[in-house]
Amino acid sequence: MKQIIIIGGGAAGFFCASNLDEKKYSITILEQNSDVLQKVKISGGGRCNVTHACFDPRELVQFYPRGNKELLSVFTKFQPGDTMEWFDQRNVPLKIENDNRTFPESNSSQTIINTFLNETQKKNVKVNTKCTVKEIEKQDEKYIVRTNSGDFEADYIVYTTGSSPKSLKIVENLGHKIVPLVPSLFTFNIKDELLKDLPGTSFENAGISIPKLKTEESGPLLITHWGLSGPAVLKISAWEAISLAQLKYNFEIEVNFVSIPMEDAEEAFQNFKQNNPKKSIGQSKIFDITNRFWQKILEISKVDLNKQVANISGKEMQKILENLCQKKFQVTGKSTFKDEFVTAGGIDLKEINFKNMSSKLLPNFYIAGEVLNIDAVTGGFNFQACWSEGWLIAQDLNEL
Ligand SMILES: Cc1cc2nc3c(=O)[nH]c(=O)nc-3n(C[C@H](O)[C@H](O)[C@H](O)COP(=O)(O)OP(=O)(O)OC[C@H]3O[C@@H](n4cnc5c(N)ncnc54)[C@H](O)[C@@H]3O)c2cc1C
Repeated sequence: MKQIIIIGGGAAGFFCASNLDEKKYSITILEQNSDVLQKVKISGGGRCNVTHACFDPRELVQFYPRGNKELLSVFTKFQPGDTMEWFDQRNVPLKIENDNRTFPESNSSQTIINTFLNETQKKNVKVNTKCTVKEIEKQDEKYIVRTNSGDFEADYIVYTTGSSPKSLKIVENLGHKIVPLVPSLFTFNIKDELLKDLPGTSFENAGISIPKLKTEESGPLLITHWGLSGPAVLKISAWEAISLAQLKYNFEIEVNFVSIPMEDAEEAFQNFKQNNPKKSIGQSKIFDITNRFWQKILEISKVDLNKQVANISGKEMQKILENLCQKKFQVTGKSTFKDEFVTAGGIDLKEINFKNMSSKLLPNFYIAGEVLNIDAVTGGFNFQACWSEGWLIAQDLNEL
């Protein structure tokens, strides 16, 4: 029987193993940690955001800052609908939340882990933990995998080591080009009077732009103890991961807390002024933001909260609206997002055949998951790439 060695017992490795034909192959997973699937365990705050209910591959690839071109053909073969069906067939129903993120109905990542453990057990997949791969050597038609607990011989390698720099070095030594690793999905550290004392304040739809990079994003925004977070920040951090690393995470952003153009905000203000001239500005509800945030805007705009709206000067209004719709902040660093963070960079995609996720340089060598230069924004997309790629590899090997 031919030997498949899967290096890395994470999402991509286990999904591939769970789909392989055990009648055809002897399958072994080598995992350096004492437990497998550790990232799945902590994923989605312990709930595991398995996938995203987006069933059109063309739409789906838009969520991948790196890998969008290459993944199109992959998703036409295995996409979120297939993931949902795969789990459903194994009695693991998934539920779609309002924002299309998809979780196991149990709300527990352990359900997903148990499913993989059951599937691989049924297939007699050997799982060797505390087994760190140090080097891979090509010998004639086979590979010799050197580990801290001896050598393994393989006819086929499936390389799914995640974003470990040491493990990238192993494939680099085999001839693959590595695109340097940089973090993706992070929040912005900002020290500013406007944000002080307001952690937890959220905005339904804010706009963020980075003038230096001529880029902008919109979406929910959240004030944290360290600065700004929320989907709008995470999205822009993923799309600009490489440029922001080059700027050493020191750059200026402009935030529109209400996503309303200046002129429209001015019109809303003037209308309010006409209809409520006697109201104190501090108690005026002109925009859809919390009272505390509005009062903070007035404070930093140096406008007396007790002043009647009719007495607000043009200059004062301008200042208030600038702080609300065009507020500039200096970002001085980043913090990693606790629910989901990934690494951009990894094995160069030009060296991968996306029909079956095989290496174009090494025969009988397949690569999947975060070890590739592929990553997505938050929402279950990173796992979906692992499932689709792992499935393609299994299909290819099963058909050999
Ligand atoms: C806190 C957190 C939460 C997340 N939540 C979500 C989420 O809800 N939804 C989502 O889509 N994505 C989420 N992600 C991203 C997602 O976890 C990753 O994209 C995904 O786990 C990548 O899978 P992988 O199989 O490529 O790598 P991994 O899951 O990292 O697995 C690689 C495995 O290889 C092992 N390994 C590495 N080198 C060696 C070696 N030399 N020898 C032996 N073993 C080795 C590692 O120990 C590891 O177990 C989250 C990430 C984090 C950090």
